[in-house]
Amino acid sequence: MNRPQQITVLGATGSIGASTLDVLARHPERYQVFALTGFSRLAELRTLCLRHNPRFAVVPDERAARNLQEALRAAGLSTEVLHGEAGLCTVAAAPEVDAVMAAIVGAAGLRPTLAAVQAGKKVLLANKEALVMSGALFMRAVQASGAMLLPIDSEHNAIFQCLPSNYARGLAASGVRRILLTASGGPFRETPLAALDHVTPEQACAHPNWTMGRKISVDSASMMNKGLELIEACWLFDARPAQVEVLIHPQSVIHSLVDYVDGSVLAQLGNPDMRTPIAHALAWPERIDSGVAPLDLFSVARLDFQEPDVERFPCLRLARQAAEAGGTVPAMLNAANEVAVAAFLERRVRFTEIASIIDHVLNHEASGTADSLDCVLGADARARAQARRWLERGGR
Ligand code: NDP
Ligand code: MG
Repeated sequence: MNRPQQITVLGATGSIGASTLDVLARHPERYQVFALTGFSRLAELRTLCLRHNPRFAVVPDERAARNLQEALRAAGLSTEVLHGEAGLCTVAAAPEVDAVMAAIVGAAGLRPTLAAVQAGKKVLLANKEALVMSGALFMRAVQASGAMLLPIDSEHNAIFQCLPSNYARGLAASGVRRILLTASGGPFRETPLAALDHVTPEQACAHPNWTMGRKISVDSASMMNKGLELIEACWLFDARPAQVEVLIHPQSVIHSLVDYVDGSVLAQLGNPDMRTPIAHALAWPERIDSGVAPLDLFSVARLDFQEPDVERFPCLRLARQAAEAGGTVPAMLNAANEVAVAAFLERRVRFTEIASIIDHVLNHEASGTADSLDCVLGADARARAQARRWLERGGR
């Protein structure tokens, strides 16, 4: 076998980071950790460096870099510690790197993920916000550099597995009628509507089937996660929003489906564990062990499906509108959502106000074309400022 592939894990201290490192450690002959990055959980990053001995580590600022560098040197490691966005972009695009796991949460992941794409890497995309914000630019950069983009989001990874290998010639030419995006419905699928005003961050983060970071957990509870995934699917598979249907499937066993014109519907099933899509994308087109337990269909016993309730989940409607509007609207939706979710996690707003903030921002900020990074980042900044003004005023 050839030398082990060099892997950069952006967002190593997070939930996807942990699952990625678990899969990598099962295959030391295939993979070596090239770089690990963290942001606030720097003690965890130090522990991960001691375990995986990367060539580089990246932290947010110079002081944190000095501290980690000293600690790693004292432990006998030759890991070099970089800092800031420039450090993230360096380890994403370094010539030695074969694949980059893009698992920073939110807009902060945009530039490093784009750097990996522009350097023509194999990019394992978990950071859906980057694609939602800058889909046209992002996909153009993939085309221009010849980067290989593999979806990590379980739904998109499932769709990728259910599409024919030459789907890039177009969904219609591939005989695809619709993409069916499954959603668990989150922890509030059956909560009485009136009670949604009073749910807490702890309740929102207690997802019934998946263990994830806090931001995506809140997004799952509001179904903004599915809205972002709808936009993500449109870019990844060159679909129109109308070609992507969302269905609630509370067991999270079917990760998504593709409906073909001949009546065939292909689905990908598995236990809800992110190590499956991670292992799939890492090894593609081969298959490797992920550590995930085999699916026991006898214990699953039944698979249920429901139509999403748009009154309960207004974020899903807002995201579909943004997908249809295009331009900078998805970037504004994403930015307003990031501010609103952070405020909810800090108990500054109610759960139901997340949708109100996004609605307000989309109604009060002008949108434009999204054909340069400056346009996208400008729209992101204006949407954040508008959302913060809503918070300062106490809304309404
Ligand atoms: P976590 O919150 O668990 O991890 C986020 C990672 O990003 C951490 O390593 C964090 O560092 C880092 N980070 C946060 N802010 C910054 C910043 N400003 N600059 C640099 N790094 C930063 O999130 P998840 O792992 O759950 O999610 C990561 C991404 O993957 C998200 O985009 C999410 O939507 C997507 N995803 C996640 C799934 C899951 O099952 N978890 C499923 C599908 C997609 P630190 O912790 O040190 O602060
Ligand atoms: Mg998902």
